[in-house]
Amino acid sequence: MTDRTRFELPESEIPKAWYNINADSPITPAPVLHPVTFEPVTPDFLSALFPESIIHQEISTERYIEIPEEVREIYKLWRPTPLLRARRLEKALNTPAHIYYKYEGASPAGSHKSNSAVAQAYFNKQAGTQAMTTETGAGQWGSALAMACKFFGINLEVYMVRVSYDQKPYRRNIMETFGATVFASPSMNTEIGRSFLKQDPGNPGSLGIAISEAAEVAALSNGKKKYGLGSVLHHVLIHQSVIGEEALKQMDMAGEYPDMVIGCVGGGSNFAGIAFPFLRENLVHGRNTRLIAVEPSATPSLTRGLYAFDYGDTAKVAPIMKMHTIGHDAMPPSIHAGGLRYHGMAPTLSALYDAGYIEARAVRQVPVFEAGVLFAQSEGILPAPESCHAIRAAVDEAILARETGQKKVILFNLSGHGNLDLSAYSQFHAGQLQDVDYPEEQLEGIQEHLPLVPEFV
Ligand SMILES: *Cc1c(COP(=O)(O)O)cnc(C)c1O
Repeated sequence: MTDRTRFELPESEIPKAWYNINADSPITPAPVLHPVTFEPVTPDFLSALFPESIIHQEISTERYIEIPEEVREIYKLWRPTPLLRARRLEKALNTPAHIYYKYEGASPAGSHKSNSAVAQAYFNKQAGTQAMTTETGAGQWGSALAMACKFFGINLEVYMVRVSYDQKPYRRNIMETFGATVFASPSMNTEIGRSFLKQDPGNPGSLGIAISEAAEVAALSNGKKKYGLGSVLHHVLIHQSVIGEEALKQMDMAGEYPDMVIGCVGGGSNFAGIAFPFLRENLVHGRNTRLIAVEPSATPSLTRGLYAFDYGDTAKVAPIMKMHTIGHDAMPPSIHAGGLRYHGMAPTLSALYDAGYIEARAVRQVPVFEAGVLFAQSEGILPAPESCHAIRAAVDEAILARETGQKKVILFNLSGHGNLDLSAYSQFHAGQLQDVDYPEEQLEGIQEHLPLVPEFV
């Protein structure tokens, strides 16, 4: 038992239900508001974008939501994902801490995103959807949804942030292999895209703009196309709970229980996925695990942003949500962890952070890659730049344990592999990466950019 490295569950242990933190959370979620009227959104508005079943999950307070058998069948292609004890990393750090990681990079598209992609494609198929639209940054979400849509025979149109489209063609190739159509965003396909291109034909794009485009196409399709979002919304967080449910069983196999659970945060889905089942154990069973969300210092929505109502996208067509935000029109400095460059944060996660149930910290790009390289050299997996944020925090906690002589048990989520992020590693090795913080001046003005909605209690 004590010298084991991998903790594997059999297929039969793939969770049969997703966990919904809203059943146990002491906080009532704030309403989601219409981007024009500022009134709580009606089901009509949402049903232009999502099928009923997804809207139902979005507002559900049921503790467990059954995972359909067809989705579990597809999950079998990569789930249960392994949990590993990072023994060689522990040795390299000379720490008394025990470090465990849950490896979501084992999925075909290389990240946790497939967990929600398959669920969303399934519920859309059930509702008769023939085509979907979505946005993607570097292409992690786009490639996960492209695979899922192909499996269920749904056409997919992807709006991919232009810089990534031009500079990181590999995930575009994957999406195209799965039959998706990929457009560089901003594009000429939408009113929103055309207006951004008119102001600046060289606009490099952003996730916020790509979301606006994908949502516009779905909203104006007379119900023919639905929209899929890869993070932020509550149903996505629910789908990701399979990560934490499996990890609970695997930690049990290891005969340990984590003192802290760590994950990187962009929109919050992989962190919520691993952390919320452990938060349930804290809330319901009196456990006391620290839950630590790690964000880049270039997009510090939790640690330096405001907790306020803000638009989910740049062009203000997506709903307004109460969340930690650096402003929907923020242009964060460019960093390699493209998947963490979103201006806001999942409302559910924001509320729990605001109430003190979750901790957050921001880390800088160079130390993040240093930790990622140390991890690769110890454990043999090249982590995604996003995941390196979680590794940085895990390594820092392990070093602290060494300094204080405490045998802490650390669990982190390795959200994806970095085999298609090699240009980032090459720049790191060449000493070309810089530590960039979000500029203070831009934070001072956020309030003026937020919608002036009346406060709901
Ligand atoms: C998209 C992505 C993230 C960030 O998204 P969350 O919704 O915050 O999980 C993190 N890691 C990887 C590998 C990703 O692809």
